[in-house]
Amino acid sequence: MTTAPVIMARGVTRRFGGLVALDNIDLDVPAGIVQAIIGPNGSGKTTLLNALSGASHADAGSIRIGGHEIFRLKPHRVARLGLARTFQNIRIFDNLSVLENVKVAAACNKPSSFLNIIVSSARHKHSEADIDTVAREALETVGLSHRADDRATQLPYAQRRLLEIARALASKPNVLLLDEPAAGMNMTESMTLLDTIARLKSRGITILLVEHNVRLVMGISDRVTVLDFGKKIAEGAPSDVQRDPLVIEAYLGRRHRHA
Ligand code: ADP
Ligand code: MG
Repeated sequence: MTTAPVIMARGVTRRFGGLVALDNIDLDVPAGIVQAIIGPNGSGKTTLLNALSGASHADAGSIRIGGHEIFRLKPHRVARLGLARTFQNIRIFDNLSVLENVKVAAACNKPSSFLNIIVSSARHKHSEADIDTVAREALETVGLSHRADDRATQLPYAQRRLLEIARALASKPNVLLLDEPAAGMNMTESMTLLDTIARLKSRGITILLVEHNVRLVMGISDRVTVLDFGKKIAEGAPSDVQRDPLVIEAYLGRRHRHA
């Protein structure tokens, strides 16, 4: 059975003043795979995730998520199509517990539950219980159940990054965009993260993984897209991409000496 790609982008272009951060990018992400976007710093990876999630719009191009055109849609509308993301910089509430952090995300992703709060206290209780269940499941998935009642600030850095993923999972996404989730993690922590990503994939979630570290994504990715200076310079199986002379050159930085 062939299905349309979950993410289908065509000609996505984003300029910042005179800088072309994304130059006519095409991207297809088939359902159920882990696809990595790699590239040197400043190559446009985060800008691409921002365009795909509606966080910051592209200037031109077409982006379809699950077949729906999302060009210039607001992030919450894109989220309703089943897309969730994490950010390169951690965005969690330090004053809340680990569980509360995920519950806030779960509640925010269920706008109707706020209406229920006003309309019916019985329904409110029901949705409160729903939110609690969804939040606990998300913590379980990333292996943080045992920290549910701790304050978010008590978590070591690597676990805070996992908490971010749990928050994204609270919306029960079909597609998850992760922006450098392993940043600041040591090797053991990175391996735990890769296990978590593999578990998400086995549950049928399509994953687009932005990563600076090439080696980290090679084992887990079904397909790798390489950006350099806002252009797609390579795409394919990890082993092919790793051997691609253009990719090696981009990473060795020869072409970056004037950058
Ligand atoms: P990456 O995530 O691959 O490191 P980014 O997508 O963050 O790269 O950035 C791509 C390019 O766009 C860089 O040159 C960066 O300086 C520039 N850029 C990103 N965001 C902005 C912005 N809001 N304003 C101006 N320039 C930006
Ligand atoms: Mg980035």
